Amino acid sequence: MIASPADDGGDPSGRAVAEGVYRFGTRRINWYVLETGDSLTVVDAGLPAHRPQLTKWLGDNGYEFADIAAVVLTHADVDHVGLAKPLADQGVPVYCHPADFPLLRSHPQGPPRWYLRSLWRPRFVGYALEMLRAGVRSVEPLTGVEPLSDGDVLPVASELRVIHAPGHTPGSCALYAEDRAVLFCGDALATRNIFTQREGEPQLLGSADEDHEEAKASLERLDGLGSVTVLPGHGNPWDGDIETAIALAR
Ligand SMILES: [Zn+2]
Repeated sequence: MIASPADDGGDPSGRAVAEGVYRFGTRRINWYVLETGDSLTVVDAGLPAHRPQLTKWLGDNGYEFADIAAVVLTHADVDHVGLAKPLADQGVPVYCHPADFPLLRSHPQGPPRWYLRSLWRPRFVGYALEMLRAGVRSVEPLTGVEPLSDGDVLPVASELRVIHAPGHTPGSCALYAEDRAVLFCGDALATRNIFTQREGEPQLLGSADEDHEEAKASLERLDGLGSVTVLPGHGNPWDGDIETAIALAR
Protein backbone atom coordinates (compact mmCIF):
# COMPACT_ATOMS: atom_id res chain seq x y z
CA MET A 1 0.00 0.00 0.00
CA ILE A 2 1.33 3.40 -0.95
CA ALA A 3 0.81 6.36 1.33
CA SER A 4 -1.60 8.99 0.04
CA PRO A 5 -0.03 12.12 -1.45
CA ALA A 6 -1.43 14.14 1.47
CA ASP A 7 0.80 12.11 3.77
CA ASP A 8 3.74 12.06 1.44
CA GLY A 9 6.18 14.01 3.50
CA GLY A 10 5.14 17.61 2.93
CA ASP A 11 7.99 20.05 2.62
CA PRO A 12 8.89 22.04 5.72
CA SER A 13 12.11 23.27 4.12
CA GLY A 14 13.45 26.39 5.68
CA ARG A 15 10.53 26.96 8.07
CA ALA A 16 11.63 28.80 11.25
CA VAL A 17 10.92 26.64 14.31
CA ALA A 18 12.81 28.66 16.95
CA GLU A 19 14.92 31.80 17.00
CA GLY A 20 17.47 31.33 14.20
CA VAL A 21 16.56 27.66 13.74
CA TYR A 22 15.13 26.35 10.48
CA ARG A 23 13.57 22.98 9.82
CA PHE A 24 14.32 20.95 6.70
CA GLY A 25 13.52 17.51 5.34
CA THR A 26 9.95 16.29 5.24
CA ARG A 27 7.13 15.75 7.70
CA ARG A 28 8.64 12.33 8.42
CA ILE A 29 12.35 13.13 8.68
CA ASN A 30 13.81 16.34 10.13
CA TRP A 31 17.12 18.11 10.07
CA TYR A 32 17.89 21.68 10.97
CA VAL A 33 19.99 24.73 10.24
CA LEU A 34 21.07 26.88 13.15
CA GLU A 35 21.97 30.47 12.30
CA THR A 36 24.23 32.60 14.46
CA GLY A 37 25.31 35.95 13.09
CA ASP A 38 26.37 35.08 9.56
CA SER A 39 27.48 31.54 10.35
CA LEU A 40 25.49 28.31 10.05
CA THR A 41 25.49 24.90 11.69
CA VAL A 42 23.65 21.99 10.11
CA VAL A 43 22.20 19.65 12.73
CA ASP A 44 21.64 16.20 11.23
CA ALA A 45 21.77 15.69 7.52
CA GLY A 46 18.62 14.00 6.21
CA LEU A 47 18.78 12.05 2.97
CA PRO A 48 20.56 12.75 -0.33
CA ALA A 49 17.41 14.03 -2.07
CA HIS A 50 17.11 16.82 0.52
CA ARG A 51 20.15 18.62 -0.87
CA PRO A 52 18.23 21.03 -3.17
CA GLN A 53 16.38 22.32 -0.09
CA LEU A 54 19.67 23.44 1.43
CA THR A 55 21.02 24.87 -1.82
CA LYS A 56 17.84 26.88 -2.37
CA TRP A 57 17.64 28.14 1.21
CA LEU A 58 21.28 29.23 1.19
CA GLY A 59 20.75 31.15 -2.04
CA ASP A 60 17.47 32.72 -0.93
CA ASN A 61 19.10 33.94 2.28
CA GLY A 62 22.36 35.24 0.86
CA TYR A 63 24.51 32.37 2.09
CA GLU A 64 26.98 30.05 0.42
CA PHE A 65 28.12 26.54 1.34
CA ALA A 66 31.28 28.19 2.75
CA ASP A 67 29.11 29.78 5.48
CA ILE A 68 28.38 26.34 6.96
CA ALA A 69 30.73 26.05 9.93
CA ALA A 70 29.88 22.45 10.78
CA VAL A 71 27.54 19.52 10.44
CA VAL A 72 26.70 18.01 13.82
CA LEU A 73 25.06 14.58 13.81
CA THR A 74 22.87 13.52 16.72
CA HIS A 75 23.48 9.94 15.58
CA ALA A 76 24.50 8.01 12.49
CA ASP A 77 21.30 6.29 11.35
CA VAL A 78 21.04 6.44 7.59
CA ASP A 79 18.06 8.83 7.47
CA HIS A 80 20.07 11.44 9.40
CA VAL A 81 23.38 11.50 7.53
CA GLY A 82 22.56 11.86 3.80
CA LEU A 83 24.16 15.27 3.25
CA ALA A 84 27.09 14.74 5.62
CA LYS A 85 29.48 13.22 3.05
CA PRO A 86 28.69 15.77 0.31
CA LEU A 87 29.28 18.60 2.82
CA ALA A 88 32.45 16.95 4.17
CA ASP A 89 33.68 16.77 0.56
CA GLN A 90 33.31 20.55 0.44
CA GLY A 91 35.50 20.91 3.51
CA VAL A 92 32.78 21.24 6.16
CA PRO A 93 33.78 19.49 9.41
CA VAL A 94 31.34 16.79 10.51
CA TYR A 95 30.90 15.91 14.20
CA CYS A 96 29.50 12.68 15.61
CA HIS A 97 29.94 10.59 18.75
CA PRO A 98 32.64 7.94 18.16
CA ALA A 99 30.34 5.13 19.32
CA ASP A 100 28.44 5.73 16.07
CA PHE A 101 31.54 5.87 13.84
CA PRO A 102 31.12 2.18 12.81
CA LEU A 103 27.54 2.94 11.77
CA LEU A 104 28.70 6.00 9.83
CA ARG A 105 31.22 3.86 7.97
CA SER A 106 28.67 1.15 7.20
CA HIS A 107 26.28 2.98 4.85
CA PRO A 108 24.63 1.93 2.66
CA GLN A 109 23.71 -1.35 4.28
CA GLY A 110 20.70 -3.62 4.31
CA PRO A 111 17.75 -2.66 6.53
CA PRO A 112 17.86 -3.86 10.16
CA ARG A 113 15.57 -6.60 11.44
CA TRP A 114 13.15 -4.29 13.31
CA TYR A 115 12.70 -2.43 10.03
CA LEU A 116 11.81 -5.54 8.06
CA ARG A 117 9.49 -6.70 10.83
CA SER A 118 7.59 -3.39 10.58
CA LEU A 119 6.78 -3.59 6.89
CA TRP A 120 3.30 -4.99 7.57
CA ARG A 121 2.33 -1.50 8.77
CA PRO A 122 0.99 0.55 5.83
CA ARG A 123 2.18 3.84 7.32
CA PHE A 124 5.63 2.42 7.90
CA VAL A 125 5.74 1.31 4.27
CA GLY A 126 5.08 4.94 3.31
CA TYR A 127 8.11 5.96 5.36
CA ALA A 128 10.22 3.18 3.83
CA LEU A 129 9.20 4.20 0.31
CA GLU A 130 9.96 7.82 1.06
CA MET A 131 13.45 6.83 2.21
CA LEU A 132 14.02 4.80 -0.97
CA ARG A 133 12.88 7.66 -3.17
CA ALA A 134 15.10 10.07 -1.23
CA GLY A 135 18.22 8.04 -1.94
CA VAL A 136 18.68 5.94 1.20
CA ARG A 137 20.58 3.36 -0.87
CA SER A 138 23.08 5.94 -2.10
CA VAL A 139 24.19 7.33 1.28
CA GLU A 140 27.96 7.07 1.25
CA PRO A 141 30.16 5.84 4.12
CA LEU A 142 31.90 8.60 6.00
CA THR A 143 35.23 8.66 7.82
CA GLY A 144 37.44 11.46 9.10
CA VAL A 145 34.73 12.72 11.44
CA GLU A 146 35.35 14.93 14.49
CA PRO A 147 34.46 13.15 17.75
CA LEU A 148 31.80 14.47 20.11
CA SER A 149 31.93 13.65 23.78
CA ASP A 150 29.53 14.19 26.62
CA GLY A 151 29.80 17.67 28.10
CA ASP A 152 31.60 19.18 25.12
CA VAL A 153 30.53 22.66 24.21
CA LEU A 154 31.08 22.83 20.48
CA PRO A 155 32.71 25.94 19.14
CA VAL A 156 30.43 26.04 16.10
CA ALA A 157 28.07 28.74 14.90
CA SER A 158 26.19 28.66 18.15
CA GLU A 159 27.44 27.00 21.31
CA LEU A 160 26.01 23.51 21.42
CA ARG A 161 26.35 21.40 24.54
CA VAL A 162 26.66 17.69 23.90
CA ILE A 163 24.57 15.35 26.06
CA HIS A 164 25.42 11.72 25.33
CA ALA A 165 22.11 9.83 25.50
CA PRO A 166 22.82 6.32 24.19
CA GLY A 167 20.20 3.69 23.48
CA HIS A 168 18.63 4.50 20.16
CA THR A 169 22.18 4.06 18.90
CA PRO A 170 25.32 3.76 21.05
CA GLY A 171 26.48 7.22 19.99
CA SER A 172 23.15 9.06 20.20
CA CYS A 173 23.53 12.57 21.55
CA ALA A 174 21.22 15.46 22.27
CA LEU A 175 22.54 18.93 21.48
CA TYR A 176 21.46 21.82 23.65
CA ALA A 177 21.64 25.40 22.35
CA GLU A 178 21.39 27.23 25.64
CA ASP A 179 21.22 30.71 24.09
CA ARG A 180 17.79 29.89 22.64
CA ALA A 181 16.70 27.02 24.89
CA VAL A 182 16.56 24.58 22.00
CA LEU A 183 17.23 20.87 22.36
CA PHE A 184 18.05 18.92 19.23
CA CYS A 185 17.32 15.45 20.52
CA GLY A 186 17.80 13.33 17.41
CA ASP A 187 15.97 10.04 17.97
CA ALA A 188 16.45 10.02 21.76
CA LEU A 189 12.90 11.42 21.69
CA ALA A 190 10.44 11.74 18.81
CA THR A 191 7.10 13.50 18.49
CA ARG A 192 6.03 11.38 15.55
CA ASN A 193 5.57 7.66 15.87
CA ILE A 194 7.66 6.25 13.05
CA PHE A 195 5.54 3.08 12.88
CA THR A 196 2.08 4.68 12.75
CA GLN A 197 3.32 8.10 11.50
CA ARG A 198 1.06 9.77 14.04
CA GLU A 199 2.14 13.11 15.49
CA GLY A 200 1.98 13.25 19.24
CA GLU A 201 3.71 13.91 22.53
CA PRO A 202 7.41 13.21 23.14
CA GLN A 203 7.99 9.47 23.01
CA LEU A 204 10.72 6.88 22.66
CA LEU A 205 11.21 5.01 19.39
CA GLY A 206 10.45 1.60 20.89
CA SER A 207 11.63 -1.35 18.84
CA ALA A 208 13.64 0.97 16.56
CA ASP A 209 15.97 1.58 19.52
CA GLU A 210 19.10 -0.52 19.46
CA ASP A 211 18.84 -0.80 23.26
CA HIS A 212 15.43 0.41 24.39
CA GLU A 213 16.10 0.08 28.13
CA GLU A 214 19.24 2.14 27.75
CA ALA A 215 17.33 4.74 25.73
CA LYS A 216 14.80 4.95 28.57
CA ALA A 217 17.54 5.32 31.17
CA SER A 218 19.27 8.01 29.10
CA LEU A 219 16.24 10.31 29.40
CA GLU A 220 17.51 11.14 32.87
CA ARG A 221 20.51 12.78 31.26
CA LEU A 222 18.27 15.44 29.72
CA ASP A 223 16.77 16.36 33.06
CA GLY A 224 17.46 19.83 34.44
CA LEU A 225 17.28 21.78 31.18
CA GLY A 226 14.03 23.46 32.23
CA SER A 227 11.80 24.99 29.59
CA VAL A 228 12.90 24.00 26.09
CA THR A 229 11.88 23.68 22.48
CA VAL A 230 12.45 20.03 21.66
CA LEU A 231 13.41 19.55 18.01
CA PRO A 232 13.37 15.83 17.22
CA GLY A 233 14.55 13.78 14.28
CA HIS A 234 10.97 12.77 13.61
CA GLY A 235 7.94 14.93 14.31
CA ASN A 236 6.94 18.48 15.06
CA PRO A 237 8.64 20.78 17.55
CA TRP A 238 7.43 20.47 21.13
CA ASP A 239 7.56 23.33 23.65
CA GLY A 240 7.48 22.72 27.36
CA ASP A 241 9.38 21.65 30.43
CA ILE A 242 11.88 18.90 29.73
CA GLU A 243 10.67 17.04 32.83
CA THR A 244 7.21 16.81 31.26
CA ALA A 245 8.72 15.52 28.02
CA ILE A 246 10.67 12.88 29.93
CA ALA A 247 7.60 11.82 31.94
CA LEU A 248 5.50 11.52 28.77
CA ALA A 249 8.18 9.45 27.04
CA ARG A 250 8.58 7.08 29.98
ZN1 LIG B 1 15.62 8.41 12.70
